[in-house]
Amino acid sequence: MRGWRIIIPKSHQAKVQNPIHKGHLGIIKCRARARCSVYWLGISKVIEKKIKSCTACLKESSNRHEPLIPTSFPERSWEVLSLYLFKYKNSWYLLISDYYSRYPEIARLDRLTSAEVINHCKSIFSRYGIPDVQTTAHNLIQ
Ligand SMILES: [Zn+2]
Repeated sequence: MRGWRIIIPKSHQAKVQNPIHKGHLGIIKCRARARCSVYWLGISKVIEKKIKSCTACLKESSNRHEPLIPTSFPERSWEVLSLYLFKYKNSWYLLISDYYSRYPEIARLDRLTSAEVINHCKSIFSRYGIPDVQTTAHNLIQ
């Protein structure tokens, strides 16, 4: 053993490379997978060489980076809002955040239903006005 990693003898190193490489996750994730399980001198270089010669890994790495699409900053408060649903201590909450001021409004939901979310949105919008744009609601499930 080397820490919690099993030292793999040379005769078995080729076999161990397959489960490390499973899923074609790329160099960084394959190294991370190896770091929490197995070790031999030069394992990092072996993983790098294997991944660089794998067409599936190369294809995955070129597809992985989606371009960032910049959004324009709103001109006034309450123009663009984001809505999030999250669970905290067995209760669901609606978080509405203003893109301009980052002002948050939080409402605890009695039930996780669209009607409940709409009712809280109506209540909040009646106090601050109706926004021009609302981003799609996201779930931040903990
Ligand atoms: Zn691969």
